[in-house]
Amino acid sequence: MDLSQRLQQIQEELRSHAPCRLLAVSKTVPAERMRAAYALGLRHFGENYLQEALGKMATLADLEICWHFIGRIQRNKTGEIARHFDWVESVDRSLLVERLDRERAGLPPLQVLIEVAISGEESKGGCAIEGIFSLAEQIVASANLRFRGLMALAHPDPHVAARNFAQLSESYEQLQRHFPAEQIDTLSMGTSGDYPEALAHGATEIRLGTVLFGSRPKEQ
Ligand SMILES: *Cc1c(COP(=O)(O)O)cnc(C)c1O
Repeated sequence: MDLSQRLQQIQEELRSHAPCRLLAVSKTVPAERMRAAYALGLRHFGENYLQEALGKMATLADLEICWHFIGRIQRNKTGEIARHFDWVESVDRSLLVERLDRERAGLPPLQVLIEVAISGEESKGGCAIEGIFSLAEQIVASANLRFRGLMALAHPDPHVAARNFAQLSESYEQLQRHFPAEQIDTLSMGTSGDYPEALAHGATEIRLGTVLFGSRPKEQ
């Protein structure tokens, strides 16, 4: 199947759910394939590696792409991330909030999700469940940031993943009740391996790489 057929199939699956955004995860995908995906209607792209993303942003500057940063954030990279991306989905600590807010000054607000560690796998990063509320308070109080919701990677085991999704969804609803004046509308969960389950648990954004673009070279 080519990209267009795969995309059609996924869009068909999405039709039977509440509105859900498809974020095309384009790490390691060359700019010209992204251009082809854009021509098929994709507008939101997720990148993990800053230098790679900056290069593709320059090549694709003629397109109206909404760029999401979804990778680990190194503290010395917050300036470029704040200035070049529309969304940052992987904010997981206070220092990053402070720096992204300062470095976004003078531009429209940066849309921010808190990445939550729900899978129990240390290496994946993310804020502990207990830390979500204080981090959210800090983002809400930041003039140049807009708090939009939560992002997470689930455990590879489908039974554990189902619990992870249920837990994240519960935290998301608690946040909506706690901050009624904020536009908290994004629950980003589900990747190629587990997006049907994430949709069943109320995901409003799924992040798909492999099922759209094929498998990636082994990650750095
Ligand atoms: C790579 C990545 C994805 C996409 O994973 P696939 O399995 O290729 O769909 C989604 N979310 C994050 C945070 C990623 O790093």
